[in-house]
This record gives sequence, C-alpha cells and structure tokens, in this order.
Amino acid sequence: MKTDICIIGGGVIGLYSAYALHSRGLKVAVIDRGEFGMQCTAAAGGILSPLLPWDYSKNINDLCRHASPLYKKLGKQLLSQTGIDIEYEINGLMVIADEYVDTHKIWCRNNKILTESANHSDKQISSQLIENSLLLPELSQLNPRRLVEGLCQYLLDHGVVLYKQTEVDSLLQQQGQVTGIECRHGEINAKAVLWATGAWAVELALLGNQIKAPEVRPIRGQAIAFDGQGINLDHILIHKGHYLLQRRDGSILAGSTLEDVGYNNDVTEPAKNDLLERSISIIPKLKHQKILRQWSGLRPASINKEPLIGAVDTIAGLFINSGHHRYGITMAPSSAERVADQIMHYLITADNPEVV
Ligand SMILES: Cc1cc2nc3c(=O)[nH]c(=O)nc-3n(C[C@H](O)[C@H](O)[C@H](O)COP(=O)(O)OP(=O)(O)OC[C@H]3O[C@@H](n4cnc5c(N)ncnc54)[C@H](O)[C@@H]3O)c2cc1C
Repeated sequence: MKTDICIIGGGVIGLYSAYALHSRGLKVAVIDRGEFGMQCTAAAGGILSPLLPWDYSKNINDLCRHASPLYKKLGKQLLSQTGIDIEYEINGLMVIADEYVDTHKIWCRNNKILTESANHSDKQISSQLIENSLLLPELSQLNPRRLVEGLCQYLLDHGVVLYKQTEVDSLLQQQGQVTGIECRHGEINAKAVLWATGAWAVELALLGNQIKAPEVRPIRGQAIAFDGQGINLDHILIHKGHYLLQRRDGSILAGSTLEDVGYNNDVTEPAKNDLLERSISIIPKLKHQKILRQWSGLRPASINKEPLIGAVDTIAGLFINSGHHRYGITMAPSSAERVADQIMHYLITADNPEVV
C-alpha cells in the first residue's frame, strides 16, 4: 500500500494528527495495535483545560489555549457529517474553596480568563466548602469516547486507512530516510511516519539501532463513575486537585489518581476508596450512589513535562507526537496542527512534486 503519511498509534493524538494531515490534502494511514482510542484516551475525563495551569510552561498553556474553540468547531463538523455528538459543552469549572482559589484568581486575572463568584445556593455541594468558591464560566468539557468514535468515522468516510490490532514489525528506510513501515497488512510505503504511541513512546527505539528512546514514561490514572441519579451538576467541580463532572447520560465521573507504577493498568481498592471519600466530601449525596465503573489509563508523561512534537532527528521523515501526560485531550488539536505543519514543511523541502 502507498500513502503519504503513516501514523502509528490511534489515541486522541494519532487520530487528531490524522485529521490535521488529511485536512492538508495528504493521504493518511493510521495503525494501532489495539482498538482505536481505547488506551489512555478512553480513560480521560475530557476537561479542556489544565487544572492547575500555573504549574505548566508557556508552551503547554499555549497548546491548551485554543482547545475549546477548536473542539467546538470539530464537534459541529463531526455531528453534521457523521451524526456522532462529542458532547462538547461549555459548562464552566467551579474551583471549590481550597488552597488554590487565590492562585486561580491571580492566574485568571493575568491571563484574561473570565471568573465569577460561584453560586452559593447550590445545595448539592457540601455547605462547608461552598463559601469562597470561584467559577470559570467559559471552561468546557467533552466525552473522549465519543470524540474517538466521531474522529474514526470521519476519517474512514474521508478515505483514511485505519488498521486496528496491528503492530509495526519494522520501519522501512533508505539512505537514512524513512520510506514506510511493515506490518501484518504488508508494506505501507509512506513519505513520512508519525509515532503517536502515547505512554509506549519508548518502543520507538526497538525499530532502529540509531533511534534513541523518547523520554516518556507511564503514569497511571484511576477514576470511578457514579450513577448520578437525582444529581444535576451545573459545572465541572474541582477541589484539592480532585474533580467531578457529569456526562450527558447522567453519570458522574470522579478523578483521578497519579501513580508511578510502570506499565500496570490494574484498578485498586485503595484508589476507589480515596476517590469515593473525596467525592463525598464535595457532594455528600454521592454516599448513596452506586459506583458503576472503575477504570484506569496510562498517561504519557515526558521527563521534563513538555510534550515531544516534531522530527526525530536521527532519521529523516520520522516524526513524534507524544508525552502529553495529563492534558492530551486538551492539547491534541494544537499539537496535531503543529506536527502537521512540520510534516508539510518536510515534504515540501524534501522536494516531493505531488505535494508542492
Ligand atoms: C484518569 C484520566 C483522566 C484524564 N483526564 C483528562 C482530561 O480531563 N483532559 C485531558 O486533556 N486529558 C486527560 N487525561 C490525559 C489524556 O487521556 C492523555 O494525555 C491522552 O489520552 C494521551 O493520548 P495519546 O493518544 O498520546 O495516548 P493513548 O490514548 O494511550 O493512545 C496511544 C495508542 O497507541 C497505541 N500503541 C502503543 N504502542 C503501539 C505500537 N507499538 N504499535 C501500534 N500502536 C501502538 C495504543 O494501543 C494506543 O491506542 C486523562 C488521563 C487519565 C488516565
């Protein structure tokens, strides 16, 4: 098979990159060794903002800044062209009285983010916490599983090749330049290859002696979902780094843990109890709610917190987009645009007449 770009890894980062590259008129194939979007992406809450933005660099905040309008636009496009609703909603983030409220206020003021004092009549939230809360009314959320469904359907409808349950067997190269990959479907000849394998980014080094392992490691995050019956959350709630948000089906998600336990995707009883306790401290009514699910995902954490976006300099035509850690859903649109621009530049300067 012949294509312009082959993407390895079909989480939100690989799929959004496919969307951005296809939008530039390129032929794209995406392969994933499992099901598309079913690793870290499916585990995510879908809040479109860092929770503690002052902890991150200007680069990360720049990558996050445009997430909301870009997803709003994408959501409309996916709904009209595929019928799949990514459940994008601007419902605001309420920071509930904790040690971060003042830092939030200062951050929002300095970064021109609108704030309001929160609605103190919300009876669901513990009365001891409601004083001194802060509302960021423009913050938004989406449903990551619906996003994956919508993107996959859109890409398939537009001729992008999606191969699931497919490992890369080898990277094809000629004179220090990538020419594609080999997998169980045979050779996929491509002008560039994009590595978007999330927490498994280090495996890139297995594809060639000259390739250094990208400095990304897994950080497990566990979350739980409550039934949510009889509870209506107007906003995403955050308290001491713990968040609660409601899906369209009424279920309430509570997240999440940060655990450095290697490639271990298990869910644990202590994490469930901790999430339960923190949730009840915010909304006492949750004590009587059924827990529907507990799950985990391995976040791709880069060593210096910065995502790795761009060319892998030992082999021409090999690119990476990984290491988005806690905010890969939020950073996906801008990261995808950034890597797609770099790939376009590479294709043009590599003098490929079909692209120029
Ligand atoms: C509990 C939890 C809550 C979160 N909440 C949020 C949130 O509210 N907002 C936010 O912005 N972010 C959130 N995140 C973070 C976000 O989920 C991640 O940053 C994002 O999903 C990373 O996407 P990815 O595509 O890089 O990785 P993944 O989704 O893990 O995708 C990588 C894909 O690559 C495939 N793969 C790996 N190796 C290979 C290989 N060798 N060959 C072929 N395929 C391969 C895997 O099968 C997988 O499908 C959360 C994470 C967790 C765990």
